[in-house]
Amino acid sequence: MRRYLVAGNWKLNLGPAAGRELAFGLADRLRGRELRGDVVVCPPFVTLAAVAPAAQGDPVQLGAQNCAAWDKGAYTGEVSAAMLAEAGVRYVIVGHSERRQYFREIDQDFVGKIDQVHAAGLKAIFCYGEVLDERKGGRAEAVVEAQLRGVLPRLEGANAYNLVLAYEPVWAIGTGETATPEIAQHMHAHSRALAGQLLGAETAGALRILYGGSCKPDNARELIGQPDVDGGLIGGASLKAADFLGIIDGAEAACDG
Ligand code: PEP
Repeated sequence: MRRYLVAGNWKLNLGPAAGRELAFGLADRLRGRELRGDVVVCPPFVTLAAVAPAAQGDPVQLGAQNCAAWDKGAYTGEVSAAMLAEAGVRYVIVGHSERRQYFREIDQDFVGKIDQVHAAGLKAIFCYGEVLDERKGGRAEAVVEAQLRGVLPRLEGANAYNLVLAYEPVWAIGTGETATPEIAQHMHAHSRALAGQLLGAETAGALRILYGGSCKPDNARELIGQPDVDGGLIGGASLKAADFLGIIDGAEAACDG
């Protein structure tokens, strides 16, 4: 039985004061609830320290949005996975479409970063997904296959415990347009089958695959209720406590069937 994961990607939003307020608000509302999944918030680096006291795992955990592909050295502006671990981080997002688009990151970067995340004892959330033209051209499955084949077999020590996949159709990110539950389930089943080929059937069966792309309180239950959807990576709706909590409620309701 896979535990769901709901992870909030705050992107370039919320400095220390605002981040602390949101994180403590979430922690206060969730404390003492017996959730059947995991909840993670991923603030900007500079906000991590302010959020850490609210995100020590009961039940909110701390995540980061990026890390270096190296452990140390002359890489101005970079932050290593080991430093993030020391700051209380448990999860690191890698491969987000915005990193691909605006920072030109490619498979090789993702392999280096995920290996660093794993070497630091953290969990990676690896994002992938097709753009609109690729979907319209009937190439969504092939694009996803290339993105997974380009990274998963090259990882040094990936397993179902330290790796989470996040299928994020780029046409649904921040657009208000959500994949239908049928599309999400189809792409997740496709991803799991590929992960079976690349990492082994046992790992693939236990691997959590999140959906990301305009997930909201009113669609979370149906999306996360799909057999191969194990939670959500949430952008815009993670910035408001009520919306993020509503998505967690949707995930809990999905557990009830
Ligand atoms: C994301 O950026 O990972 C994301 C899913 O954003 P949104 O929820 O705003 O579509």
